[in-house]
Amino acid sequence: VTTNPRPPHPTTSPALRSWIETANDPAGDFPIQNLPWCVFHNPDDDMDVVGVRVGDRLVDCAMLHDAGVLDDDHHEHGPVCDALTAPDLLDLAALPRAMRVALREKLQAFLAEGAAGGQRARRLREKAVFAVDEVELRAPMERVPNYTDFYASVHHATNVGSMFRPTNPLLPNYKHIPIGYHGRASSIVVSGTPVVRPSGQHAPAEEGGTPTFGPCKLLDYELEVGAFLAGGNELGSPIPLAHAEDHILGLVLVNDWSARDLQKWEYQPLGPFLAKSFATTVSPYVVTPEALSPFRCGAYERPAGDPAPLPYLADPANEQTGGFDITLEVWLASAEMRDRGMGPVRLSRGSFRQMYWTLAQMLAHHASNGCNLLPGDLIASGTVSGPERDARGSMLELTWNGDPFATPPKLVPGTDRTPIQLPTGEARAFLADGDEVVLRGWCEHPTFRRIGFGECRGVVAAGNHRT
Ligand code: CA
Repeated sequence: VTTNPRPPHPTTSPALRSWIETANDPAGDFPIQNLPWCVFHNPDDDMDVVGVRVGDRLVDCAMLHDAGVLDDDHHEHGPVCDALTAPDLLDLAALPRAMRVALREKLQAFLAEGAAGGQRARRLREKAVFAVDEVELRAPMERVPNYTDFYASVHHATNVGSMFRPTNPLLPNYKHIPIGYHGRASSIVVSGTPVVRPSGQHAPAEEGGTPTFGPCKLLDYELEVGAFLAGGNELGSPIPLAHAEDHILGLVLVNDWSARDLQKWEYQPLGPFLAKSFATTVSPYVVTPEALSPFRCGAYERPAGDPAPLPYLADPANEQTGGFDITLEVWLASAEMRDRGMGPVRLSRGSFRQMYWTLAQMLAHHASNGCNLLPGDLIASGTVSGPERDARGSMLELTWNGDPFATPPKLVPGTDRTPIQLPTGEARAFLADGDEVVLRGWCEHPTFRRIGFGECRGVVAAGNHRT
């Protein structure tokens, strides 16, 4: 008999209900079992505060701490006080995990149905709780220290590889090493921030010709899951796989916007650079490992013939429960669709359980050379694609590198190189100005409450182009 190395956390008990009535809607993303961390602007105090989302409400954690709800000893100058009165989640990420879990338990007790009322609690319930559509959400980290993007979906890697290297789609390192590159941290923006179409160099039309400079014509999204890191490691001290998850503050949705034409010309021999660094969008809610604990699943089942991971990337707990069963979707609305009052259309639906490498393996690998990871760092998974056509997590894969210069975009008979048809009659091979991309993610299980990530949105804005 084997025991589950990561059993559901007690704070996910499905019996729990909140006095915030919208949290009890079974279809909602934010029951009292979720309580994702976020940062929002408190309009009364005119400052950015650490919060949690519950139903359609945001709760000001600094105010609860100030009222003595979150800390028995009511320390005014301790690390918990500092973390909750900070303008973002960076100090919270630096706390020991046990302190964050204790905070989560206190928050849950305050928000639970039947929690002690009393005059003081009633006043706090009014003062510290805000309707989500009446305040502005901020990025979880004001400045992300470091950002690394992996390439952990074997389906994505195979799809992209076979477009450009039909006879040799997967390079020989892929099944041994979680492939990644160092991304740009300063251009990470929160959901809702417009994304300006980048300009850059385009490959010469013929070999040996002169490249041109101009607006990106093959603008794409990439559906990814990100982990904001907690704790960290000393320079020179790797993080063993068994402890890797202690370094996760929580998960978010990530859109790794990609300029395919710029990428194609610049990426060899050192990898992605300006094709990726112009913007990366994250969702505002950091969903905790505790909230996700009922939705753990095994690591990718490697088909017979695939190599086993090297010992530093393998252990039974990772194999048994290293994965996360998160359903992920991409939706698109063009400017014309919004003008005509049409909702977005779904482009794809996949699952994070399809990833070839787990987040713990990515983390352990990242630190395996002694590189020091920092609290607040963002690690993204790479495009999440599944084996089915409608589980492809980028437009490049959905349209099979559709030719955007043809009008309407070219359909190649006998292949799945086909443009995406929108209900307005518009067609897309890649993103047009005004297009809004919406990522959604959630977990469901018959005996637990649904846990959702909310949305990660971005509208493509016309660029300010100079040649
Ligand atoms: Ca990516």
